[in-house]
Amino acid sequence: MTPAELEVAELTAELIRVDSSNYGDESGPGERAAAEVVMARLAEVGIEAHYSESAPGRGNVVTRIEGTDPSLPALLVHGHLDVVPANAADWSVDPFAGEIRDGYIWGRGAVDMKDMDAMMLAVLRQMVREGRRPRRDIVFAWVADEEAGGVYGAKYLTANHRDLFDGVTESISEVGGYSLEVDPSLRLYLIETAQKGLSWMRLIADGTAGHGSMLNDSNAVTEVAKAVARLGGHQWPITLTPTVRRFLTEVSEAFGLPFDPENPGPVLEKLGPLVRFVGATLHHTTNPTMLEAGYKANVIPGQASAVVDGRFLPGYEEDFFKTVDELLGPNVRREFVQHDIALETTFDGALVESMIAALKAEDPTARAVPYCMSGGTDNKTFFADLGVRGFGFVPLRLPKDMDFAGMFHGVDERVPVESLQFGVRVLDRLLLNY
Ligand SMILES: [Zn+2]
Repeated sequence: MTPAELEVAELTAELIRVDSSNYGDESGPGERAAAEVVMARLAEVGIEAHYSESAPGRGNVVTRIEGTDPSLPALLVHGHLDVVPANAADWSVDPFAGEIRDGYIWGRGAVDMKDMDAMMLAVLRQMVREGRRPRRDIVFAWVADEEAGGVYGAKYLTANHRDLFDGVTESISEVGGYSLEVDPSLRLYLIETAQKGLSWMRLIADGTAGHGSMLNDSNAVTEVAKAVARLGGHQWPITLTPTVRRFLTEVSEAFGLPFDPENPGPVLEKLGPLVRFVGATLHHTTNPTMLEAGYKANVIPGQASAVVDGRFLPGYEEDFFKTVDELLGPNVRREFVQHDIALETTFDGALVESMIAALKAEDPTARAVPYCMSGGTDNKTFFADLGVRGFGFVPLRLPKDMDFAGMFHGVDERVPVESLQFGVRVLDRLLLNY
């Protein structure tokens, strides 16, 4: 085994043992301690890194390894150091103990995404120890706050330390590069090339306040409730973006199924639990999530509001809001609680070719397919702020029966040690050869 294969599991466990839960406010422990682990492991092999805190305890680490060909643009490899909280009572192990048992590393962050944080470390340490250099500059970034929008992490770095990313045109990070076994002779590796956009909308209705016993033809609660029902119940039509069309076509082909764009159900079924990643990428969604109105049973309030979590397809944002506004009707207005772009890039070019080659070299049954994610990652921030073309590529060859999607933010989050060893082999090839 290579040095990176030998140490990647322990590095992952070491990072898991540092609780870097992000509650979305200031109450968490922050990422400093996890960042210190990264810096200590870099320092061991003589790598100096940039460290900065966007707020007390919110640590970010960035370093660059110089390539042999300065004419090539740089590649960014990024991972977030924060994790979502874990309720230990629900788990069968301590979520912050970093236990390695039965061939798995257990704990919060095992797949999201201290696994990749450790893979990046292991590969970089190996590269430096062996005195090998990549062709192009590679910027490694371990950032804070991805789980709460990246304000203290990617957004802070791109706004305040832009020079760290000089020359970067492409990036890789979560959530993609994992396998879906079709049969022993064929494994699909899902590489993320697109992400839906996000629009958290507050719906507001203004009406006439008054006594609950009297006639009232302008009741704000009624108006907002009708709009919520219209948005929540809307059957958004299937709209296949180029990425989703290609994904469904390739998956159909792999499983020997005909692909009917009008009826993608049978193809989606073949994805098993991975359908959680892609099931919502065939159309827009508008899920009502919050309601707020009134303070007493016999008082009609003058205003009522609700929050709807809207997710729109890349390339169809205008279409989304046109329909949303029709569904809202004339008596309800909307404000953004949060609004984020959608992303879509093509599945081609030298980086894609290199990812495919690295996968195939380690798994001859590999076939890479692009897919669209229903959520978002820090790639959005790096794209919006630096124009970086991002991919989800954390190479993991997974056991056939593993519920990988269920691991994300899930109970008993874990990752096979073998998958990480596969991952560092692929990543090492990719970073050196690209
Ligand atoms: Zn993540």
